[in-house]
Amino acid sequence: MSTGSVEVVYRGIFQKTLAKNICRGIVLAARKDGKIGIAFGRYGDSPERNGIPAKQFAVVSDTEEELEEFLSRYEPDNNDVTMVVDDTLCKGVESWAWYGLQPINKLLAENGTLLVTSIQSPNKLINFIHRKGAPYNLAVIKSPASFSGLWVFKNDHTDVRLLGALAKVAPQIVSLESILKAIEEQWKDDLKVASAKKAYETTESASVSADQGSEAVPFSFDLPGWTKMEEGLVIRGMKVHAQAARDGGYVPGRNEVFKKFSTRTMRPVINFDTCTKCTLCWLNCPDTCFDITPDGFYDANMEACCGCGVCEAVCPVADCVTMVNEEAFDDNASQWEMWVKDDKGYAGWLGEKITNLPDRTHGFHHVGQYAEEIAHERT
Ligand code: SF4
Ligand code: SF4
Repeated sequence: MSTGSVEVVYRGIFQKTLAKNICRGIVLAARKDGKIGIAFGRYGDSPERNGIPAKQFAVVSDTEEELEEFLSRYEPDNNDVTMVVDDTLCKGVESWAWYGLQPINKLLAENGTLLVTSIQSPNKLINFIHRKGAPYNLAVIKSPASFSGLWVFKNDHTDVRLLGALAKVAPQIVSLESILKAIEEQWKDDLKVASAKKAYETTESASVSADQGSEAVPFSFDLPGWTKMEEGLVIRGMKVHAQAARDGGYVPGRNEVFKKFSTRTMRPVINFDTCTKCTLCWLNCPDTCFDITPDGFYDANMEACCGCGVCEAVCPVADCVTMVNEEAFDDNASQWEMWVKDDKGYAGWLGEKITNLPDRTHGFHHVGQYAEEIAHERT
């Protein structure tokens, strides 16, 4: 008599079909093991938005009664496995229906397994992941993040590789035999079956102790008690006012509770030595991210930036704005302040950062794109 659950954390829209394939595969395999299962998305993530962290769950029980009992809660909070299909989500998850930046391992059970697709080493990933305060395991499937669009799917086998790895790290939920049969029936593709089997054979987990990981304090907030609740749905308006800041600079009014940086898989770095103060990045940023500095430069606020890349696209000066992989950074500090303090040091920092050019594309841009990318990854 047992119930097991898997949480799949993914980027909204870009990885929706990937998450669905994984959860569906788990439930179909569970049926072959004589169990019963269900897959569903987190309520607050609907409608999904591009890149905003989202979750789907798969729950598997021995009996229907156990499954019903498990599902009587709001959402599974003690999962055997948390799958992370983009490693930048290891920095924390901030949902569309905002409830603060949450550690990626928050809903993972003690001694459960965090299963991440990444080209980073486990030791590097651990630096980004909040301390859990309880031991767990970390398993990494070597792979770049698999991104696609709403109506298309990048068939690069990430789904079946994760299913094969799941059978290795949590055999109590699904057996390898059933996973392979489910993949065969679902996709009728021997290569996919072989990919799942190889992932099963090669996946290894490392133990993470209770005090390993980032020391950043996870966000917390007080829920309003019933005496503070109002009739109907009330969303209080926010005061939006420009703030004079930095001795004459300008910081626009921003939403204090929806920061958006967890949406980002890449961020802009700015060369203030070549910037002509033309204003185009400031005017075109869809999220009003640029603060105006006292000396008239434009400093992208890294708590507000969602990493869309528009500033890089509109900047008329060659290599003045460069989008860089998010995993190259461990804070949201002001680039302009760093430059003012030590411009030569900043130039060295900038040169080092722009060696981390983004290795991922968001969405589907032309017919045949994913076939080209997959062919490139296999060479
Ligand atoms: S990438 Fe540039 S344009 Fe896009 S949100 Fe960030 S600062 Fe604004
Ligand atoms: S678009 Fe480029 S040159 Fe113009 S203000 Fe922004 S960073 Fe400077």
